[in-house]
Amino acid sequence: MAFSIEYDVVVLGSGAAGLTAALAAAREGASVGLFEKADLLGGSSAISGGVPWIPLNHHQDEAGITDSRDEALAYLASLSLDRMRPEMAETFVDNGRDTIQWLEDVTELEFTLLPSYPDYHPENPGGKPDGGRSLDPGLFRFTTLGPWSDKVARSRRSAHLKITDTTLGGGTGFLDDETVQYRLDNDLRGCGNALVGPLIKALLDLGVTPVLAAQALDLIIDGGRVTGVRMLIGGQEHDITARRGVVLATGGFEWNTDLVAEFLRGPMTAPTSVPTNTGDGLLMAMRAGARLGNMGQAWWVPAVQIPGDIAFGEQRSNLVNRERTLPGAILVNARGRRFTNESTNYNALGGAFHEMDALSFGYANLPAWLVFDEAHARRYGSFGTPPGSPIADWIPRATTLRALAEQLGIDADGLGGDGDYRFTKDSTLGRLDEGPFYAVPIQSGTLGTSGGPRTDTSGRVLDTRLQPIPGLYAAGNVAAAPTAMAYGGAGGTLGPILVFGRLAGLAAATAS
Ligand SMILES: Cc1cc2nc3c(=O)[nH]c(=O)nc-3n(C[C@H](O)[C@H](O)[C@H](O)COP(=O)(O)OP(=O)(O)OC[C@H]3O[C@@H](n4cnc5c(N)ncnc54)[C@H](O)[C@@H]3O)c2cc1C
Repeated sequence: MAFSIEYDVVVLGSGAAGLTAALAAAREGASVGLFEKADLLGGSSAISGGVPWIPLNHHQDEAGITDSRDEALAYLASLSLDRMRPEMAETFVDNGRDTIQWLEDVTELEFTLLPSYPDYHPENPGGKPDGGRSLDPGLFRFTTLGPWSDKVARSRRSAHLKITDTTLGGGTGFLDDETVQYRLDNDLRGCGNALVGPLIKALLDLGVTPVLAAQALDLIIDGGRVTGVRMLIGGQEHDITARRGVVLATGGFEWNTDLVAEFLRGPMTAPTSVPTNTGDGLLMAMRAGARLGNMGQAWWVPAVQIPGDIAFGEQRSNLVNRERTLPGAILVNARGRRFTNESTNYNALGGAFHEMDALSFGYANLPAWLVFDEAHARRYGSFGTPPGSPIADWIPRATTLRALAEQLGIDADGLGGDGDYRFTKDSTLGRLDEGPFYAVPIQSGTLGTSGGPRTDTSGRVLDTRLQPIPGLYAAGNVAAAPTAMAYGGAGGTLGPILVFGRLAGLAAATAS
């Protein structure tokens, strides 16, 4: 792959953070080098739902939805557990609207509101029960990317789905054959591919050619200033100069088991992101003397590992969003007890997995299983099988709940016990009384970690004295999340990532 040895701005990583930073810098007239460690572009952003959460976005106006700065900030503060830095939240809220408008102006992105998709804590101050802050990137025609269309990471099963077709967006994950065929014939892709596709197209149009299989090894630091990056490209090391700045956008450290054990607040055994997110940027920032923040946190999800489901060379972990929220399924721990509202949002549910049992000094709710009955399985389908299809062989089953519990090492007397957890006035619970009964192990997973080098409001990485490290910028999951623990609604990670990716790219391009 062709690349230069000198750029104004060097961007490491090609997810939403890196692409947005690169685009912002290139549009400022900077020469930009965009380097991606994987063989494919897009990172976790490309296989994600592609939904950004942006308060006060202009599509709310068109839909007659009211929102305000005060409401958005009050809402984020209500979820922050005092961990969020106000200036970062303010910068996010104050720049969200412009960022979406800018993306629609300078790329082919055209968002629509995710219809009636409530914020994740609509009852909190400033929460929006009727939605309006979560945006859908729609479908993007990948044929417009020419040879690059095959160079973007995608999920085998769902790249052609729009977010509203998926379980994350309220759909079933299944479409009729005709629609699937039409989208495949026209290479129309939705979700994360529809978000990153237009960004890649805009970069290619500006003459920024990404370099694949290019791993950043370390920062080059000269007199306290970051002046470049040592890269591994095609088996050879190259020193690439960055005249104005280096933007770290290398994603989280969820695939680095050492870093996970060292930093995360509790067990995390199922990363759902791309396996190249191994904390390289975090380690580079640490070596450059960065102050770290939010290190115990991640964007949590309950996840399932289906045997034989391999993606990007690794066992795939899938989000469990649908089956757990429908009547006839309960989430239980080893005591056979329910421990949370099964239909709570995925990020908040991570807290239930990390609950400590003080008496046994262990995790009260790990391991965990989703237990469901035949009626549930038949009516809703389960874990990749559509309604009415036979339940996959790998799912443990037994004719009675007691036998199922004994098979799995769950307390048989406890299974079926019940708390009264209700999310809304309509409980999603239903009786489990039609055998056979099934149980799927549910793991504490993540969409990506959310701790890393602290940055200021323009994405400059701060040192241990909270002074900017000259020439070093960071955005996305590599950095301490601007909203800390707060996950406002669908898109709670990508919203801030687009905003701060753009700000970091702008700051790097205009640095002296
Ligand atoms: C299935 C799924 C669904 C999701 N849905 C949503 C959603 O709808 N809305 C939302 O807000 N969030 C969602 N998320 C979370 C969201 O995808 C991530 O938070 C976001 O994509 C992170 O963006 P990023 O740019 O920081 O990192 P990534 O998109 O992961 O990109 C990081 C890139 O850096 C590269 N890299 C790593 N190390 C190096 C190195 N040394 N040199 C060069 N490159 C390197 C990686 O290979 C990777 O391509 C979802 C996540 C998953 C897995």
